[in-house]
Amino acid sequence: MNTNKQTVVTAAFPFIPAELCIAHIASTYLPADIFHRFECLRGVNSILVSATDVHGLLAKKELSQAQMSSQELMQSWHRRYINEFSMLGIEFSHYGRTDAKALKELVYQSLHTLKEKGLITQREAFDYMCSDCGEMLPRRYRLAVKEMAATGKEKIAYDDLDNDNLQCRFCGSRNVTKSSKPHWFLDLQKGLPAIQENIDKQKNNQVSTQLKAAISDGLADWNISRDNYMGTKLPFSDEQSLYLWYESLIGYLYLAECENKYSNFEFKHFIGKNIIYYHGVVWPYLLHCGAERNDSEIQISARGFLDMEKTDSTLIDIQSITSNYDRDYIRFYLAYRTPDSLSDYYFNQEDFSNTINQIFCNQFGSFFRRCISILKKNQVEQVLPTELTNTPWETHWPLIENALSQMLVRSALLHIQSYIKACGTVIEDMSIYRTPTKASLGLLSDLFIKALFLLTPICPTRVQDFNIINGLDLSRLRSHEDCVGLPLRNSMARWEKID
Ligand SMILES: [Zn+2]
Repeated sequence: MNTNKQTVVTAAFPFIPAELCIAHIASTYLPADIFHRFECLRGVNSILVSATDVHGLLAKKELSQAQMSSQELMQSWHRRYINEFSMLGIEFSHYGRTDAKALKELVYQSLHTLKEKGLITQREAFDYMCSDCGEMLPRRYRLAVKEMAATGKEKIAYDDLDNDNLQCRFCGSRNVTKSSKPHWFLDLQKGLPAIQENIDKQKNNQVSTQLKAAISDGLADWNISRDNYMGTKLPFSDEQSLYLWYESLIGYLYLAECENKYSNFEFKHFIGKNIIYYHGVVWPYLLHCGAERNDSEIQISARGFLDMEKTDSTLIDIQSITSNYDRDYIRFYLAYRTPDSLSDYYFNQEDFSNTINQIFCNQFGSFFRRCISILKKNQVEQVLPTELTNTPWETHWPLIENALSQMLVRSALLHIQSYIKACGTVIEDMSIYRTPTKASLGLLSDLFIKALFLLTPICPTRVQDFNIINGLDLSRLRSHEDCVGLPLRNSMARWEKID
């Protein structure tokens, strides 16, 4: 095994029967995919992983209503997710399932370790069950009050334990019974040093602020056992299953170890803002205290929610948006518009068209066309050497790398846009179009090639339209000297505007 660290970029697992839409792509899967491609571009040893979460209460409910076996159900959702990711060019190094045998082994090992350390103990806790539909009701599925707000939207207040007026969120019944039975609890408070250390290392201020607030009053025990559940059986219980979040988090380690090449990992997690607690409190605890991977590190990048009410319906469904637009146009727009913060956001059709037409086609596309036309006009047949410094690159590349070190994808794209603008200024100032020299044409090819490299992680397919350099692989950054002498093809593309 290699003792070097491997970067493991992860995207939170879709769980059956969650329907993926553009909101999930924008907040999680696309930033993860783009970030991973940038890591590869920079020569970092990186993999991109995720998995279908096949367990849980909702998967069990879905199975009870489906006319198929659990394997068929899992496989059909699994295939569907894979298909939707590929429609947007999201390419995982590994995409697994949470019922994998090797994952179960890791889960059992870590559970035994935690139990031996006295960190998992059994005690009585309350269970809630709906007498009408028979479902077990975890907190999110018990309502204390359900009423309509003025907007016509359902206003939900979840119960606190004292409230006797509970309602089942599945069927609406008020026949909710409460009973006490033994459950298995993880003592999170005892792992506080490992959790605290991980919080201190977070580079994202919003994430670390939220995590500090979450641990400031001490950590409650975490109930990891579930009754009447679709999941992995607990090794030290005859009938109870393991809560799916435990398995999903250990799932990151399982996916990282699939190739069995490395033992130390730098996890880079892309998630929605609602699951920061699991990734920033529970996961470092499981990784360090349970799985005992003390040299592995965790960084979290979280994003807000897409406001579905404000977003045009044409931009939400994956099938319909990808049948209407080139997937790299969609990737560009989502990367350009999704904030690198916990703030919510929305997309609209007019802004989509304007961004594609004015920024993607006019700024980026026209820059590439301009470079190619100058090279053609001067009959440049191969990449020329130059003594001139690529000043836009010297200025903007450190800013791009700095944004990436904080996992800020939109910020990186905005710096790339500034790089393109700065290149345009250089072409004007040096009058490369009107009075070219051999050295300035060499510089022009460097400005051009670097722009191709920078846009590749965001639009890997469309950028090839302008890659007129034979033998140039755009997925891995090369110095200009290394590109000198590569032959140029005679071709010219255009990115078509949209209505
Ligand atoms: Zn019910």
